[in-house]
Formats: sequence, C-alpha cells, structure tokens
Amino acid sequence: MAKKKDKKAFPLLNTEEAEEVVHELGRALDSHRDWTNRFRKMLVCRTKPKASDLNADAYKKTAFGRWYYGKVHPHLRDHPDFRAIGKHHEHMHGLAHELSRTIRDKENVGIAQYDAFVESIGCFRLSVRKLLSESWDMLRHTDPLTGVLTRTAMQARFEDEQERARRNGQPCCVGMMDLDHFKSINDTYGHQAGDKVLEVVAGYTLGHLRNYDQVFRYGGEEFVLLFPNTAIDRAKTVLDRLRRGLKRKPIAVGKKKNLHVSASFGVADLLPDCPAKMSLENADQALYAAKKAGRNRVLVWPLA
Ligand code: GH3
Ligand code: MG
Ligand code: MG
Repeated sequence: MAKKKDKKAFPLLNTEEAEEVVHELGRALDSHRDWTNRFRKMLVCRTKPKASDLNADAYKKTAFGRWYYGKVHPHLRDHPDFRAIGKHHEHMHGLAHELSRTIRDKENVGIAQYDAFVESIGCFRLSVRKLLSESWDMLRHTDPLTGVLTRTAMQARFEDEQERARRNGQPCCVGMMDLDHFKSINDTYGHQAGDKVLEVVAGYTLGHLRNYDQVFRYGGEEFVLLFPNTAIDRAKTVLDRLRRGLKRKPIAVGKKKNLHVSASFGVADLLPDCPAKMSLENADQALYAAKKAGRNRVLVWPLA
C-alpha cells in the first residue's frame, strides 16, 4: 500500500525509509568517529597516509559511501537533508584528500587548511544528526502498521488546532471511527487478515480526506480524525461519504477472498477552551450511540 504522508512538510520520510536512515546513519556516525580519530592522529604524528586517503574517490568506497551512493530509495535520495549529507561528505573528504597529499609530500599543513577540514567535519556530523532526528520523530509519531499518526502525536496536534481556533475563530471537528465487528474478522480469517484490513482502511481514509485533515490510530481498530477549519455539519457529510466509500471498498485478504467492512463514527466540535480530552469524550459518546443504534452510521454530538 502506498502510504500517504503529510504533504505540508514534503518530502517527509516514510516509516521504512526512516528505519533505514536510523540504522545506516547510526553506523555512519560510529565509523566516522573512528575515521576522524585516525585522520587526526595522522596529522599530528605525521604518520603515513593510507592508500585510500590518497584516492580522490575513497569516500564512495567506505561502508557509509557504499550505502549512500548505492541503492537508496529514490524518495529518500530526493530528500533535501539526505542530499545535504552527500554535499558535506564529499566536501569533507575532498579536504581530507588534500591534507593526505600535504602529509605525503612532507609539507606543512596551513592553519586555514586545517580549520576548513575541522569545520567540514562539524557540518557533516550536523547534517547527519538532522536527518537522524527527523527519522526518530517519524518513527515515534507513525504507526508502523498503518502509516498514520500515533496517539503520542495526537495531543500536540490537538493543541495546535485549539490554538488556531482561538486565534481565528474557525471551527474544528474531531471524529472517532471504530470498525464494526472487527473481532469477527480476526476470528474468521486470522490476525494477519485483520492487520491487512487495518492497513487498507487507514490508507483509504488518508486518501479520501484533505491534506490538512489528520488521522491518528487511537488503539486497535479505532482511529481519531481531526478536521481543521470545518463546521460540524460539513464534518458529518465528509464522514458519511467516507463511511459509504469504505463499505463499498473490497479488501483482498488471501488470494481469492475479498472482504467488506463497515465502520461507525462519532463527531464533535473541538472545543478551543477545554482540555482536548473533553472533545474526544464527546465524539466517543456519539460513537457509542452509533454502535448502539445499529452501527455503520455517523452520529453527531450533542445527540439529537
Ligand atoms: P464493535 O462493532 O462493537 O466495535 O465490535 P468489534 O469486534 O469491532 O470490537 P471489539 O472491541 O470487540 O474487538 C476489537 C478487536 O480488535 C479485538 C482485538 O483483538 C482486535 N485488534 C486490536 N488491535 C489489533 C491489531 O493491531 N491487529 C489485529 N489484527 N487485530 C487487532
Ligand atoms: Mg470495533
Ligand atoms: Mg473498538
């Protein structure tokens, strides 16, 4: 499934890319530290440079270089922070190459030459840390199964929207969605089929809302939806459309089996001046009423 991402900060990483980045850049920082220690020793003690230090292409052949210049996902390759790392890496190794030749030729290393090298190390490490930190954030805030935001990410987003609503007086709504009889899907077709349903439902939901609406996995088969700048009757219309679309969508589990699922929804205003929890509880009450009324429907808080 193509996981849709928040386009506001394009190009964000997806979960798999973030995992790859954390793994590879963590290793890169370790091996880089070993390399700089050895290199500094060469400069101070005037030891003989390694053959690889004198090779202008050497930076492409380190473990990090092989990963960086190898088969990296195109989306990651286009990421500005990823490209910045390459720029700093190449520049730093260019200066290291010049220094190695200076040492080999038994010449003096100039202060400016050394300062530029030290600065380039700092820039490289900073660029690595920037992408690492973004990747950690992505992993902490993204549900690995469905690709939507986690409950951990929710509080801050709610507070942002409340702040915006206080500032500009625009309405904002919160929806709760819970799949109907989901347990019976697990019981009948197995947990993997259940996981597949969650993945498809989350992808469908993301794909059918506006870019600035937000979807969070609240728990098991429950999702919270946040609709900025949306009045409650509009939010109900959007959720009804989503509900009908979801019900029609065939979900392939196994080779020949297509399932159909329905969901129930509750929707409430996001109250700008009360704790976000209160609005969530209101939406939950409406969801509970939707379940009691027979499921596969959207109910609005306060209940009529
Ligand atoms: P209702 O219509 O009243 O909401 O019934 P339900 O069966 O959907 O709700 P219930 O709370 O009884 O069951 C939810 C099930 O969701 C139970 C739990 O095992 C399952 N579940 C929770 N998280 C996951 C998950 O990550 N993957 C899978 N496959 N199942 C999950
Ligand atoms: Mg359910
Ligand atoms: Mg539930």
